[in-house]
Amino acid sequence: MRSFRCPNCAQLVFFENSACLRCGQELGYDPVRRDLVAATDLPRCANAGIAACNWIPPRPGTLCLSCRLTRTRPADSDTDAMAAFAETEAAKRRLVAQLAELGLPLRSWEDTDGGLAYDLLSSRDGSVVIGHQNGIVTIDLAEAGDPHREQVRQEMGEPYRTMLGHLRHETGHYYWTVLVEGTAHLERFRELFGDERASYTDAVDRHYAQGPPADWPDRHVSAYATMHPWEDWAETFAHYLHIRDTLQTAGEHGIRVDGPEATLSADPGDVDADAEPFEGILAEWLPLTYALNAVNRSMGRDDLYPFVLPPAVVGKLAWVHRLCTDVS
Ligand SMILES: [Zn+2]
Ligand SMILES: [Zn+2]
Ligand SMILES: [Zn+2]
Repeated sequence: MRSFRCPNCAQLVFFENSACLRCGQELGYDPVRRDLVAATDLPRCANAGIAACNWIPPRPGTLCLSCRLTRTRPADSDTDAMAAFAETEAAKRRLVAQLAELGLPLRSWEDTDGGLAYDLLSSRDGSVVIGHQNGIVTIDLAEAGDPHREQVRQEMGEPYRTMLGHLRHETGHYYWTVLVEGTAHLERFRELFGDERASYTDAVDRHYAQGPPADWPDRHVSAYATMHPWEDWAETFAHYLHIRDTLQTAGEHGIRVDGPEATLSADPGDVDADAEPFEGILAEWLPLTYALNAVNRSMGRDDLYPFVLPPAVVGKLAWVHRLCTDVS
């Protein structure tokens, strides 16, 4: 994420701010200019009240670019779910801003069949399965609550589980349909991630019956990624977004950690030879994660980035990077 300055007093302000804490200037995020702007005379998103949305909509009385992507939300009377909805929309705004920052194409469900949409559902009255289908991302709002999500994280044996991570993973499935499906890149995808025509239901059954193969850390970024090539892609894509956002945030705040030069052990493939190589990103990322993990431990917290990137995963990330830079 970028760092922002108050347009009135130049104080450091943040993406989530709707006012400057120093001078009181009203602020709003303008998704067109991708900047926090003075919002005194500008319209507010129609979700400003219920989702604390600080984005500027295209017209008064309408939803902003991010809130518009939500197709289903809880009823106003479901107060618990509405609190979780507000938290989830905040994470989604960060995601949507990053997709624009990376120049990734985004078509809304309102504009096209298979366009991106979010169903943000409360599982209080029935089970909700987090997932993606034909552009529709389904999110269980119960995962916005820390105790519940932490319990699930422990049951699943995962090192990391956040709402932003869910949104990045599920939106990654959507980007598979945009960047890979039906394109010339499908063949290379299958070489790197495996053949996605393998039965998904069988893959799920096998994963939950047998668990991941013992050597998964050599080839995958997470145990879940071993389940099916689609899940490997979504996990890899989510990590790509983690890396790009965290690196940008660190850079914007003047944090830079030097480390040894990184080299790719896997050839990312012939997507666009002119695209910015991934080596440079990795060379900044690895030392930064070592430093940030150490900083977290100093505060008695778990590692910020509890993952290891083996060469095979770096190769997949480099390929995702090339696809993303190629299309932007
Ligand atoms: Zn100010
Ligand atoms: Zn909004
Ligand atoms: Zn998935």
